[in-house]
Amino acid sequence: MKQILRQLRQGELRYHDFYEKISVEVEGAEDPVHIQGSLSREGSQIMLRFRGRLLVHVPCDRCLKEASYLYQVEIEELLEPEEDEQFDLAEIVNECFVVQRPSQVLCDAECKGLCPYCGADRNETSCDCGRATTDPRFDKLKSLL
Ligand SMILES: [Zn+2]
Ligand SMILES: [Zn+2]
Repeated sequence: MKQILRQLRQGELRYHDFYEKISVEVEGAEDPVHIQGSLSREGSQIMLRFRGRLLVHVPCDRCLKEASYLYQVEIEELLEPEEDEQFDLAEIVNECFVVQRPSQVLCDAECKGLCPYCGADRNETSCDCGRATTDPRFDKLKSLL
């Protein structure tokens, strides 16, 4: 890739397509991500573009059952000439997927989660905890409305 960058800078090459499999260090990612992208000369600069999709398996944020999430990352950035020597596609790809990782993964958008009192999975059972008592914070909120 560094060789290609050099050729692009020197104008021997205008465009380079690539397709790579890269392992990413994102929690719950089992398979390497397939990256499709290009390096191209834009005036005197070099543009890096790529996209890839990653499937992650992580516990649901609410009920802790296994949930999966597919997310796509698409990048377009100009490379500074001084970056050429340290250019590391795997590192850039990793960073993108880590930064854009979904902050919340749910097994289902309607997941009711676990009861905070007895731990019952509210998607499967109903319990009586907390039904009689109301949260005093909400009472206060109501009085403000
Ligand atoms: Zn859930
Ligand atoms: Zn309960």
